Amino acid sequence: MPEGLWVRCPGCEHMLYKSAVEKNLNVCPDCNYHFRIAAKTRIKYLVDEDSFHEILGTLKTEDPLGFKFRGTTYKKRLKEDTKKSGAKEAMRIGKAFIKGRGVILAVMEPNFLMGSMGFVVGEKLCAAVDMAMDEKLPLVAVCSSGGARMHEGVISLGQMAKTSATLAKFDEAGGLYICVLADPTTGGVTASFAMLGDCIIAEPGALIGFAGPRTIAETIKVELPKGFQTAEFMLEHGFVDMIVHRKDLRSEIARLIDYCHK
Ligand SMILES: [Zn+2]
Repeated sequence: MPEGLWVRCPGCEHMLYKSAVEKNLNVCPDCNYHFRIAAKTRIKYLVDEDSFHEILGTLKTEDPLGFKFRGTTYKKRLKEDTKKSGAKEAMRIGKAFIKGRGVILAVMEPNFLMGSMGFVVGEKLCAAVDMAMDEKLPLVAVCSSGGARMHEGVISLGQMAKTSATLAKFDEAGGLYICVLADPTTGGVTASFAMLGDCIIAEPGALIGFAGPRTIAETIKVELPKGFQTAEFMLEHGFVDMIVHRKDLRSEIARLIDYCHK
């Protein structure tokens, strides 16, 4: 059997034709499982054809701590992930149109150091907010992240405060901020810009949380409820405003912009 022709769905465990899944926006046609997708693919699905103009696309991270871990180094891992994902960092920002509505877009890249937020991701998000403010455009952020990037220590944690403060200014200025939480949205990203949207949309089944379920269970010594940290659980408990199928994201975001943007 030629390699790469089939893919196993983590939702229903069916073997699926890769091309059939791709044609269906990387959603399982059998059980609706939303596969993780690269930033490039996400942008293609979300914006009007060829309308994305990237900003700060060449911004690359340094290795401020000379960080070494598990027999390798941060520098090596950056190189490997650049090669693997074709991305220079874990977020892409730019200007685009969604169904004819101008937006500033920030999209996370889950295939680059687990979509973690280091210095560059934080700076890019803040640049996107500033641009949205200057141009009076709505800001749309798509999160898919393992959290703050431990390889940059306190520098990455500092970006949680900086992104939150920048978004607070945007909010005071009356800006519209729409967040889309894709699988997974966790850690320092959940604890900062992912949860600060005026409207928070989640994709079906997305893992959304701060610490992992095992850490929480061991800390508070109780059994966690079924479906804990899924998008559906978060909707039920008021952490997200709606769950939207990937095929409906464009029209839902356009509708929200028409309704909320002054
Ligand atoms: Zn499936």
